[in-house]
Amino acid sequence: MSLIVQKYGGSSVGNVERIQRVASRVVKAKRQGNKLVVVVSAMGDMTDDLISLSEKINKKPSDREMDMLLSTGEQVSMALLAMAIQALGEKAMSFTGPQVGIITDKYHTKARILDINAERIQKSLREGNIVIVAGFQGKTISEEITTLGRGGSDLTAVALAKALKAKYCEIFTDVDGIYTADPRVVPDARKIDQISYDEILELAALGAKVMHSRSVEVGKKFNIPIYVRHSEQEGAGTLITKETSRMEDIVVSGVALAEDEAKITIFGVADKPGVAAQLFAKLGEGNVNVDMIIQNKTQTNTTDISFTVFKNELRRAMDVVNKIVKQLGAQSVTRDEDIAKLSIVGVGMKAHSGIAARMFRALAKKKINIDMISTSEIKISCVVEGSKGKAAIRAIHQEFKLGKQRK
Ligand code: ADP
Ligand code: ASP
Ligand code: MG
Repeated sequence: MSLIVQKYGGSSVGNVERIQRVASRVVKAKRQGNKLVVVVSAMGDMTDDLISLSEKINKKPSDREMDMLLSTGEQVSMALLAMAIQALGEKAMSFTGPQVGIITDKYHTKARILDINAERIQKSLREGNIVIVAGFQGKTISEEITTLGRGGSDLTAVALAKALKAKYCEIFTDVDGIYTADPRVVPDARKIDQISYDEILELAALGAKVMHSRSVEVGKKFNIPIYVRHSEQEGAGTLITKETSRMEDIVVSGVALAEDEAKITIFGVADKPGVAAQLFAKLGEGNVNVDMIIQNKTQTNTTDISFTVFKNELRRAMDVVNKIVKQLGAQSVTRDEDIAKLSIVGVGMKAHSGIAARMFRALAKKKINIDMISTSEIKISCVVEGSKGKAAIRAIHQEFKLGKQRK
């Protein structure tokens, strides 16, 4: 008997009928002779709705109470799915993350999983149950409830697959696999049959929200096969796996667009050792994740430092920056929320040259100005004006002939 971990995302459990269809699919897999652990997200947009609700009550809610609130979403769908399975005549039991021993660090709203004590799940499986687990949540060693960051149910699923030594992990969603670009933005995008952990890791971190990036990190570390599949269609989906030599033939595997970042620029910072260290240490202490950083020396022996942060951390970042701007000897600070980051990703880039030039040329042809650039061995990212993001991503997708019409 194989143990499989399945995860169903928010839209897949978005209403009663969908939950019932998920229940049928789960029961079918069980009747084919598998042991099943099923991770669920909150129904539809429930997490967003809970966030809006909190904003009406308090503009700066504490992270602990946010976690108390957001963790309830997944608990609704877990119980409803267990009931739907029971209605089909199979045994099912639902559990919260804390109940199944998902232990995290103490960073509320973006906690990392430290350990999983899967004994309770094992016991329930031995008793013949289909085990349903609420995604996106855990608890600290001092019994505080935490959540794992937006999209974190994927992480719950892959981490459970590791802890339970599952044969594979299936991520069921509203697309039939991973595409060369978000099919909602680039209609011509093509489904990828196999992709390496490193490529989807980059794509996920760069804005392709089809997979949560830390879930892929865990998959890569423990070499867990992950399938991304449509929850209401049969089909092989996309397999996320180790890099193969064949993959290197493809220079660019996919493109991603992130519209959830904002840019902060600090002008006229004193040009002396330790200034950048001081700034970014303070941002780290303030629990702000910084993404791209650019520093430019001016002619007057000062530097301008620009960096990007997630929009939902912008307020926190500005609080930190405004507090230390004087110590840095800086002249002024600006913020810009109207930015988009576009990225191209491919393991084949390691072995090919001239890729950046092609990307920049494609943007120039569309008269799109590049504001910031960053690269790694397998990716190139550019920041452009926010309103140009979608047109830019389509232009790049076409430049690298990633679409269906490429043959
Ligand atoms: P779930 O609620 O199931 O977790 P998400 O909304 O988090 O679903 O992820 C699925 C969505 O990811 C798709 O509807 C699609 O619009 C988007 N997406 C972004 N980039 C890609 C990509 N490269 N391939 C497939 N889907 C993508
Ligand atoms: N419900 C959470 C979110 O919307 C977690 C998830 O769906 O993965 O971010
Ligand atoms: Mg998701």
